[in-house]
Amino acid sequence: MAEDQFDAVIVGGGSAGTVAGYLLAKEGLQVVVVERGNYAGSKNVTGGRIYSHSLEKIMPDFAREAPVERKITREKISLMTEESNVTLDYYSDMLGIQGSDSYSVLRGVFDKWLQEKAEEAGAMFITGIRIDDLIFREGKVCGVMAGEDELEAHVTILADGVNSLLAQKLGFRSELRPEHVAVGAKEVIELPVPVIEDRFSCRDNEGTSWLFAGTPSAGRVGGGFLYTNKESISIGVVSTLSELVKGHKSVPQMLEDFKRHPVIEPLLKGGKLIEYSGHLVPEGGLKMMPKMIGNGVLVVGDAAGFCINLGYAVRGMDLAVASAECAAKAVLAAKEAENYSESFLQCYQTFLSSSFVMKDMIHYQKFPHFLEETPRIFDAYPRMAADMLAELFMMNGQPAQPLMKNMMRHVKKVGLTTIAKDAWKGVRAL
Ligand SMILES: Cc1cc2nc3c(=O)[nH]c(=O)nc-3n(C[C@H](O)[C@H](O)[C@H](O)COP(=O)(O)OP(=O)(O)OC[C@H]3O[C@@H](n4cnc5c(N)ncnc54)[C@H](O)[C@@H]3O)c2cc1C
Repeated sequence: MAEDQFDAVIVGGGSAGTVAGYLLAKEGLQVVVVERGNYAGSKNVTGGRIYSHSLEKIMPDFAREAPVERKITREKISLMTEESNVTLDYYSDMLGIQGSDSYSVLRGVFDKWLQEKAEEAGAMFITGIRIDDLIFREGKVCGVMAGEDELEAHVTILADGVNSLLAQKLGFRSELRPEHVAVGAKEVIELPVPVIEDRFSCRDNEGTSWLFAGTPSAGRVGGGFLYTNKESISIGVVSTLSELVKGHKSVPQMLEDFKRHPVIEPLLKGGKLIEYSGHLVPEGGLKMMPKMIGNGVLVVGDAAGFCINLGYAVRGMDLAVASAECAAKAVLAAKEAENYSESFLQCYQTFLSSSFVMKDMIHYQKFPHFLEETPRIFDAYPRMAADMLAELFMMNGQPAQPLMKNMMRHVKKVGLTTIAKDAWKGVRAL
């Protein structure tokens, strides 16, 4: 056993890696986090909003100190067609109650703050180095190769994100399947604070989360998103890779068209583009989860497929944080028992199973398949909603028709039975 062996080496300084580093260092373990970017968060993308509950448990009141953008108190969901937009707009200060609150964040600053917290707790960070290889000896992962250097550790935690090549090298997962990942493109557009507050009816540090189905993803599985930050707007689209390979429209083009939509364009007017990014989103749910435990190795966060996209809520960061906490508990138990074997580390699975992480992954396991087999959510239903509302609001001098008859005309285009079946399947998948 090498003398300069760490207790844990963590690959990746995203939400999962930094939190695992923080928790282990706080308990006095020798921890090193290796991040390929120049600092934690420099390469990370989210929509995005973090649901606070899992980080709140680890760092109570973190939002008072952390560089969060706005507390989300308004939720909007839209069905968008090329010329229209039908929106459900829900404001409630209940959304801001501590423990159920959520915040828009910019990962470049937020993850950097998490890095600082982990460093204060005693974790070491090596940045600007990409880990391409693990040290594998006698059937056990014994650390990583960082350039020419070997970093040996009792446990290696793979927190290297959705396309974890290290988990693939270990044979824990195969190549990503197109139906299991979405491609996201996002812009951050700077606007003055009073302009944001006027355009989005935000008070003080409150903000809006707005998700769209329909034209943003060109009528296919995916959607658009918009979040208000303090002095900027995060706007983007995601589209499932299996739809993209059909060669319909590129994601950057979807984003351009989305920004030019008559409902969106005025909201961004006068704004300055300050950041552009693209990233994969794991959306396969339970079906894409890799093997997560081996001799001396654990997989956390996106690398383990912990992400849930429900159309009205996107969750990855809260799962990343909670899975990191479960991994940290497993490493602490392993250190105590001086046993880092695959069989002992199964306690990681036990911790995950008793937390909301596995419970929610299991609960929503049918949802990705429901979206895949219900393309109407992204084309026929936005069109139906738009046409029905046009009937209601357009006065053109023609004699009025009974409302029911008018509405049924549009319902019949999709089919009452189809709608009922979709609604039934949708409710059952949630
Ligand atoms: C467009 C988009 C919108 C999203 N919206 C939301 C949202 O609103 N809310 C939400 O909760 N989630 C959202 N998500 C999901 C969320 O961002 C992820 O679930 C979360 O970032 C996962 O954290 P992680 O630490 O596991 O992975 P990541 O944040 O991806 O971190 C992985 C880290 O590993 C580093 N790395 C990778 N490979 C190596 C290597 N070989 N060596 C060293 N370092 C390496 C990377 O640079 C990165 O820093 C969204 C994702 C996308 C792409």
